[in-house]
Amino acid sequence: MPDVKGAVLAVGSELLLGDVINSNAAYLGHQLAAAGVEVVASAAVGDDLERLVTALRHHLVEADVVVLSGGLGPTVDDLTRNAVAHAFDLPLDRVPALEDGLRAKFAAYGATMPEAILVQADVPRGAEVLDNPVGTAPGLWLAVGDRVVIALPGPPHELRAASETVWPRLSARTGRAVTTRQVLVSGLGESAVAELVEAAVALPDGVALSYLAGGAVVRVRFTTSRDPSLLEPLVQSADRVLGKHVWGHDRQTLDDIVHEALAAAGQTVAVAESLTGGLLAAALSRRPGSSATFRGSAVVYATDLKRTLAGVPAQVLAGHGAVSAQTAAALATGARERLGSDWGVAVTGVAGPTEQEGHPVGTVHLAVAGPDSAPVVRSLRLPGDRDHVRTLSVTAALDLLRRQLT
Ligand code: ATP
Repeated sequence: MPDVKGAVLAVGSELLLGDVINSNAAYLGHQLAAAGVEVVASAAVGDDLERLVTALRHHLVEADVVVLSGGLGPTVDDLTRNAVAHAFDLPLDRVPALEDGLRAKFAAYGATMPEAILVQADVPRGAEVLDNPVGTAPGLWLAVGDRVVIALPGPPHELRAASETVWPRLSARTGRAVTTRQVLVSGLGESAVAELVEAAVALPDGVALSYLAGGAVVRVRFTTSRDPSLLEPLVQSADRVLGKHVWGHDRQTLDDIVHEALAAAGQTVAVAESLTGGLLAAALSRRPGSSATFRGSAVVYATDLKRTLAGVPAQVLAGHGAVSAQTAAALATGARERLGSDWGVAVTGVAGPTEQEGHPVGTVHLAVAGPDSAPVVRSLRLPGDRDHVRTLSVTAALDLLRRQLT
């Protein structure tokens, strides 16, 4: 089959002004690539009919598939439907079934439907409607000769829902769906991971190896458009050589792994956190059903609260300071005892922007106290600004807990 080229066109002036991060472009790029489409361009355009039509025509010169995101709403600045119609000289037809659907959605909530909403029942002649089960603006699939224009609603959860049927259809078109397997690693840097993996793995023809590092996690990615079963032995080799640094695969998350390990052992965890200010608790309560394994968190930002709430002995604080391995260990023990859990996790350190008690920004001490032995402490120097140090601290704390649990 010939190569299928694709382009992404994100619509909305808010994207150009930087008010909204263009996360749909990342999602669509990823999905297109996974469907075997070669993505040749990704652009953003403001809410302007003429510019939209021009951009759409321009991208269709090279791309066989153009995916638009946003601008399908009911207001005057939502111009994607009109732009698609205009670009190919198609009339907009009001589709009675869509109109009925919109009326029914409002009736179900007992709300009066603004008449303006009905423009969402207008479809460029010949386009197929892509169902949007979580919003009012349906998506569109328009075949123009051998090219395809796909328009999807802008809110990311609506975009995902309305595009569900798009990816298998595009895969069928390209005949080369791409399979990716990921090995998820913490506690080693990207180049150390690469060195180990490349010494252990012989890549067969047609398999690509890449690394994606960020947020204290390195993702080792094996990708192929050939037989997906080529990937499993490679994943196993990477697992073997990376050993205890591997915490999961594919779409797993570190907090999921931690909860699963705790649930399997019938145990719970609690937290005493300083520089992360509740972020670790947020991560541990992200998943539905977390209450079975997560007891809670004491956010002990002020030094005196480390003593009164988390039970750090005054002499530890006086002798070693709030930012110390000893305080981290005492916080972890305190979390366990005061919050009544099997495991206690603690984070203390300096998020910045200025140093504290003579400790440079990025100094972080983590500790995990468990039912059977003395607390395990890990002291780190994390890079980046305040937000980054806090985010990395959460991942490093979850990883330290994971290592004790598994
Ligand atoms: P609606 O029916 O909600 O108006 P729409 O298809 O018209 O849907 P837009 O009005 O373009 O979508 O965007 C709605 C919201 O979706 C934006 O305010 C923004 O929060 C989010 N959004 C739009 N485009 C993007 C994008 N490219 N990346 C991430 N979020 C986006």
